[in-house]
Amino acid sequence: MHECHNCSKTMLFGGRTIEGYRYCGNACASRHPLLRSAERIPANVLQQHVEHWRNGPCPRCKQQQGPIDVYAHHRVHSFILMTQWSTKKHICCRRCGRREQIKSALYSASLGWWGIPWGLLATPIQVTRNVAGIFQREPMRASADFEQVVRMQLAQQIQQAEQPAASFSAQR
Ligand SMILES: [Zn+2]
Ligand SMILES: [Zn+2]
Repeated sequence: MHECHNCSKTMLFGGRTIEGYRYCGNACASRHPLLRSAERIPANVLQQHVEHWRNGPCPRCKQQQGPIDVYAHHRVHSFILMTQWSTKKHICCRRCGRREQIKSALYSASLGWWGIPWGLLATPIQVTRNVAGIFQREPMRASADFEQVVRMQLAQQIQQAEQPAASFSAQR
């Protein structure tokens, strides 16, 4: 299994590869220049922004009661020969993240099983991943995923500042 470098969608096969990075499709592949420029942001600048956002209010519940980070939840549903699974990530506080993980664990446990063979195989995996998330200890520092989100925001701001709106050239 591969994860899309841009959206982290899980791919069993297919997608596009640019300079060694895998993308789930053309839409994500078109963000490759932005991703590359994001990788050039200095570490100290990045860390400042990460800390600032991490201790800010939750974008979902608007409250300020836990570290903001990227929280993943995992789903699967099946119908006979068709099984679809997905991982979604949200930027939110820990409480909001857990709420999604609980919902997705229940979703997968009730809708995941009904396919052969993938439903039977994927359901325990997805449920376990959610449960692991629910019981994970509060992280001491921002996750790599969260750093990446902040990095992308900064890259976007830099790109907008550098490029006039009319031009559509790929940045190298
Ligand atoms: Zn993608
Ligand atoms: Zn929240």
